[in-house]
Amino acid sequence: MAELANCVQCGRLFAKSYRPTCEQCYKEDERLFEIVYKFIRKKANRQASIMEVSKATEVPEKTILRFVKEGRIRASQFPGLSYPCDRCGEGILEGRICNSCNQSLQKDLRTHDEVTQKQQMKERITYHTEK
Ligand SMILES: [Zn+2]
Ligand SMILES: [Zn+2]
Repeated sequence: MAELANCVQCGRLFAKSYRPTCEQCYKEDERLFEIVYKFIRKKANRQASIMEVSKATEVPEKTILRFVKEGRIRASQFPGLSYPCDRCGEGILEGRICNSCNQSLQKDLRTHDEVTQKQQMKERITYHTEK
């Protein structure tokens, strides 16, 4: 018996395979991907933005964005297909946040760790002195 799962795209129940989407959504996805890819592959369209591609192909921006985020369309080859950083809205071509946000996040994380460590240290000291 195949395991049942909800398709991540349409929510329909389907027999789970290695794909997170049902057969219909998968086929539709492939079809849209073909259209988008055919369009941007042309030299004249290499610099097209997601909005322009969407207008020309009638594939929703959301879908194109997903192709880029999934890495099916390599934004590094199509610099027009940048999408906004989750944090600051800066156009990025990879991952979810831009480089500068990534760096400041790392810093925040470190500072947070230091604060927690100091806090724990203090608590330990207080605990011991109270005893
Ligand atoms: Zn589906
Ligand atoms: Zn950013």
